[in-house]
Amino acid sequence: MIDLYTRTQALVAKLGDGDTIKFSREDAGSLVASLGSVLTEHAELYYQDDAPVISDAEYDRLFQQLRILEESHPSLLKNDSPSQRTGSEPVDSFSKIVHSEALLSLSNAFSEDDLRAWYRRCRSRLELAENEPLSITVELKIDGLALSLLYSNGVLQTGATRGDGRVGENVTLNVRTIPSIPLRIPRPKISDPGADPPIPERLEIRGEVYFAKTDFDKLNAVLAAAGKKTYANPRNTAAGSLRQLDSRITATRPLSFIAYAPGPASGFIGDSQSSILSWFASLGFPISDQTETVNRLEDVVRYCKYWADARDSLGYEIDGVVVKIDDIENQRRLGAISNAPRWAIAYKFPGREETTVLRDIIINVGRTGKITPEAVLEPVMIGGVTVSQATLHNADYIMNRDIRIGDTVLVKRAGDVIPKVVQPIVEARTGTEKAWRMPMSCPVCNSPLERLEGEADHYCVSSECEAQFARLVEHFVSRGAMDIDGFGAKLALTLATEGVIKSLDDIYKLDETSLAELDGFGIKKISNTLEGINDSRNRSLSRLLFALGIRHVGKTTAEALVVAFSSLHDLYGADAEALLKVDGVGDVIAQSLVDWFSIEQNVELVKSLTTLGVNTVRLESEIPQGGEGAPLRGKTFVLTGTLDGIGRKEAGELIKSAGGKVSSSVSSRTDYVVAGENPGSKIDRARVLGIKILTEQQLMNILK
Ligand SMILES: [Zn+2]
Repeated sequence: MIDLYTRTQALVAKLGDGDTIKFSREDAGSLVASLGSVLTEHAELYYQDDAPVISDAEYDRLFQQLRILEESHPSLLKNDSPSQRTGSEPVDSFSKIVHSEALLSLSNAFSEDDLRAWYRRCRSRLELAENEPLSITVELKIDGLALSLLYSNGVLQTGATRGDGRVGENVTLNVRTIPSIPLRIPRPKISDPGADPPIPERLEIRGEVYFAKTDFDKLNAVLAAAGKKTYANPRNTAAGSLRQLDSRITATRPLSFIAYAPGPASGFIGDSQSSILSWFASLGFPISDQTETVNRLEDVVRYCKYWADARDSLGYEIDGVVVKIDDIENQRRLGAISNAPRWAIAYKFPGREETTVLRDIIINVGRTGKITPEAVLEPVMIGGVTVSQATLHNADYIMNRDIRIGDTVLVKRAGDVIPKVVQPIVEARTGTEKAWRMPMSCPVCNSPLERLEGEADHYCVSSECEAQFARLVEHFVSRGAMDIDGFGAKLALTLATEGVIKSLDDIYKLDETSLAELDGFGIKKISNTLEGINDSRNRSLSRLLFALGIRHVGKTTAEALVVAFSSLHDLYGADAEALLKVDGVGDVIAQSLVDWFSIEQNVELVKSLTTLGVNTVRLESEIPQGGEGAPLRGKTFVLTGTLDGIGRKEAGELIKSAGGKVSSSVSSRTDYVVAGENPGSKIDRARVLGIKILTEQQLMNILK
C-alpha cells in the first residue's frame, strides 16, 4: 500500500484549486471515498498517536473539500464519513431505540462479605469441585454514562443511551463526534487488520462515555469565564454533553469512551470476557489498561481494596469495581435473575457525595490574611466520616453557584481533601433561603477586607490581626518550616490571642517565666519547649524564608531563592529585576517579596531575628551541587536532538554536576541550547529568542 503522505499529495493534486464543481458525479464519488479514508487515517494519527503527518491547515482544506463534495452530491454522504465527526444540524428531540437485548443493571456488593457470598453462590451453581479454578475479570467501574454502539458490516449505525435498560435514546449524531469511537471497524492504522475472530455482520459494543478530570476542569473554567452554568461533576458533564440536541456542541466536548462488554453479535466473537476485550482492542476500541483476570477471590478483594484507596490517582472518576465470571459458557450457565445477571457484581466504593442542609456560612482568616468562607452543615455521614464543615473557597464560588444559607446542598468528600460544597439543590428550595454576602471587615480584628485586582480571594491586610497572626505562628513553627518540637497549633493560638507574643521574633524571647503562666505548663514541658525553640535557631535559610509566611513564597520558591541570595539581608536588598532572574519566580512572587521587605516591621523582624541568634544566612548544605565556584553555576541548559557522543542523559548529569540546570523547554531564561542530530522545534525557538546554541563538542569543551 502506498504510504499515507504520498496518497494525500496525489489527492491534493487531483483536487487542484479547490473548485470541486468541475468534477463529474463519478469522479466526485471516487474523490469522496479517497478523501474519507485519507482524512480518517490522518485523524487517527492525530488523536491516537499524537503524530500528525500533515499540518492542521492542510487537513482543514481537505476536510472542507470533502464537505463541499458531499453537499453538492448528498447521495455520496456516508455514515462513516469524517465529516460526521464535527456534528450536524440540531434535532428537536431524540428518537427512541429499543435495545435488542436489555442493558441489565448489576447487583451491588458493599463489602468483602458480599463479594465472598456472591463468589460462593457462583461456584455452587456451577457445581465446581473444591479445587476447580474459576477465572474472574475485575474492571474499574468508570463513573460515566453507559452507551450501546451498533455496527453493521463494520460501520457504526447507531449509538444509544442505556435509558431504562430496554429503551434508550438515539444519540448517534453525537456519538459520531467522539474521536475515540471508531466510525468503521477495524480502525485504520491502529487496529489489527487480520482481526480474529472476523467481525460479524451485526455487532453491538457496550461501554462507558466519560469525561477525564482535566477535561472536566478545563470545560468548567471555560463555562465560568463565559458566565455560564458550570457542571457539578464529570458524570453529569458526560451526560449533558452526550445528550445535546445540537451535535455540533457535543463535538466541542472532549468526551472519552471505553468499551467493556459485548452486546448481541451475529457470530462468534470470543469465549471469555478477557479474550473479547483484547479483540475489542484489536478492532480499535479503547479498553481499560487496569482490567485484570484472576483465579482467586483473594485477588478480587485485593484489587477492590487497592482501587478504593488509589482511585484519586486515576485521570477519571470511578465509583467501584465490576467483577465478572470470565468464561462466557459459565456466564450463560449462571444466567440472570429479573434485571441483573448472576455472573457479575458491582463492588461499590463508599459514597463521596451526600446532600445536607447548609445552616450557615462563616469566614476563616488564614495566616496570609486570606479569607475562606466555610459552610456549617447539618452533620452528615459521607464515606464513613461525619462531615459538619466544608469549604466554599471564595466569594465568587458562592456567587457563581448561587449557594444560599438554608439551601439543601450537595457535599463532596474525596480522599484526604477537605470536604466541599459542590452546588445547591435548587429544586429543594422553600423560599426561606437567604443569599450571602462577603462581610466588609475581618471578623476578628475588624479591619476592612480587601480584594486584589484579578484575585478571587479577599484578604484581611491588617498586620495587627490576631487571627492571622495565630495562623502565622502556627505556620512558622510547623514541621516544614522551623520545625519547633513541642510547639503545636494550640500553643501558637494561645500565645497569639493572649498577647504573649506579638511578632515572630517574640518566640525567641520566651522564657520560663512567660511559659509558666500558661495552663498545663509544668517544668518538664517548659524546658522541652524552650529546648525546641533553641534548636530551631540553626535551621537553614530556606526554611526560615518559608517560615516567614510571605505570600506566594512556598517551600520550592524559598529553596530557589536561597540559591541566588546568600542571606536574608542579601534578599532584602534585591529589586524585582534581580528576583525575576531566579528560577520559578515570576512577577507575582517578585512583587510579593518586594512588598514584604518594604514594610518597616518586617525589616525590624529580620534584624531582631539575627540579634536573637536565629540563622539568617545560607548554610553550606544549601549551596547546590558543584559549589560556589562551579563553572556552570546559575546557567540553564536545554538539550535537544540526538547527542550521539555521550547521550542526553549523561550530558544532563554532567551539566548538573558542574552546577548548571537542565530544563525541558526553551524560554528567555535559557542560557544555552545544546543541539544534536535532528534537533526539532526547540532550536527554532532558541534562534527567535537569540539564545546561544552549542554543538555537543562545544558543550564538552565547556565542561572540561
Ligand atoms: Zn483581621
